Amino acid sequence: CGIIGYAGSIKTACGKPLEVCLQGLRRLEYRGYDSAGVALVAPGMHGVAVRKKAGRLSNLEKSLANRPLPDATAGIGHTRWATNGEPSDVNSHPHVSGDGHIAIIHNGIIENANSLKFDLQTEGFSFVSATDTEVAAKLLGKVAQRVIDETGHPDIFEALRRVACMLTGAFTILAVDDRQPDIVVGARHDSPLVIGLGDGENFLGSDVAAFVAYTKKAMELRQDTVVRVSADDVTVMDFQGNPVTDSKRFTVDWD
Ligand code: GLU
Repeated sequence: CGIIGYAGSIKTACGKPLEVCLQGLRRLEYRGYDSAGVALVAPGMHGVAVRKKAGRLSNLEKSLANRPLPDATAGIGHTRWATNGEPSDVNSHPHVSGDGHIAIIHNGIIENANSLKFDLQTEGFSFVSATDTEVAAKLLGKVAQRVIDETGHPDIFEALRRVACMLTGAFTILAVDDRQPDIVVGARHDSPLVIGLGDGENFLGSDVAAFVAYTKKAMELRQDTVVRVSADDVTVMDFQGNPVTDSKRFTVDWD
């Protein structure tokens, strides 16, 4: 239902990704939700760090206060409005890939989730939740293992582009990967996603309310595009892999 993503650098990050995610989710509470969760990544992590709780955002905050997550460079946060699977801790987002390296959050409904899930189960993947989103998480993990970039790491941006082409229905998806801890990637089809342009940091949000406390500079994302944000770069491609360079910039005129 509500989505926020943050990419910073080692210098600026520390507690900031978590702070931005929680602040963003608070600003998105007006949309209504039944659960909330965050995922964080930093260099040297072995697997993405995830915390998620059914109920109010304060449940998540209490859990984080009791058992803090490690400092991070990038993070994603989600408030869920359940469509596939009842509201519960395990059905809350983020959902994690089979190898534990990737976490994703999702707004919308993936209509071909059942047939994709059947294929993945046949290949040996197991599922812990009843959500359509976990299907996308397992699929992204699988595809990422096959798309290796020049540094020898899975290219999660290219992997998400390929996965977006395989999904039907409506979706905004954000993902983080502990092997690429300086970026957040996103995809949208029939569901909104906006970029917030910061100074040495960048944001993604389901609407500008998610990041307006940090920057008023924003950029629209066209239908059927994927985006990769790092502390100092924003790259947009269409689902065919063509660069998109004419995304419209605008200034948010409220706070
Ligand atoms: N379909 C997903 C779920 O039920 C996402 C719902 C949402 O947009 O929050 O978990």
